Amino acid sequence: MKIVFATGNAHKLQEINEIAQGTDIEFVLPPQGFEPVENGETFEENSLIKAREAARLSGMISLADDSGLCVEALNGAPGIHSARYADTAQARIDKLLYAIKNANNRKAKFVCAMTLVDEGGNILFQTRGECHGDIAKEQSGLNGFGYDPIFIVEGTSKSMAQMSEEEKNEISHRGRALRKILELLKHTKII
Ligand code: IMP
Repeated sequence: MKIVFATGNAHKLQEINEIAQGTDIEFVLPPQGFEPVENGETFEENSLIKAREAARLSGMISLADDSGLCVEALNGAPGIHSARYADTAQARIDKLLYAIKNANNRKAKFVCAMTLVDEGGNILFQTRGECHGDIAKEQSGLNGFGYDPIFIVEGTSKSMAQMSEEEKNEISHRGRALRKILELLKHTKII
């Protein structure tokens, strides 16, 4: 069974398909022209906007995620603005480390909302996955992307960028949100 995964990011698609291994679901990219306007105010709203746009273009059941990093000392910022917090991945890390350089509380969480819609854009399921941790003082590790090098996963002494893909999928916000979707799909007859 093919489901459109509403992203332009082939790396994310690969990650999602790895998590879904062992099921009979294959996630595929949306058709050309996928350019959703992410103007929602929550992760849930933005994931719904993306899923509906993918369903509109493809006429297929579509899944979308919206994710970001919420830092307690910054009242939840950068949050839904994580991708646009600064111009490059390195600039985003530098800006965040500077913004909390004097903060004692370095707690943070990655959040991922996922929305599955039917061919007509109606919500089938919406799930949320979170991964808690702390913002490191310095970056470490070369794997992953985005804020991974400064995010120390709770209960470990590793940054997300020091984890293998398998380890990350096990504990990540995206892995958790997707496994909830897959579990819900297993118990329904929509596909
Ligand atoms: P999205 O693709 O619109 O969901 O944007 C999410 C943004 O949040 C990304 O561009 C990253 O900056 C950040 N982000 C989300 N998930 C992760 C992750 O697993 N590791 C590091 N950064 C992430």
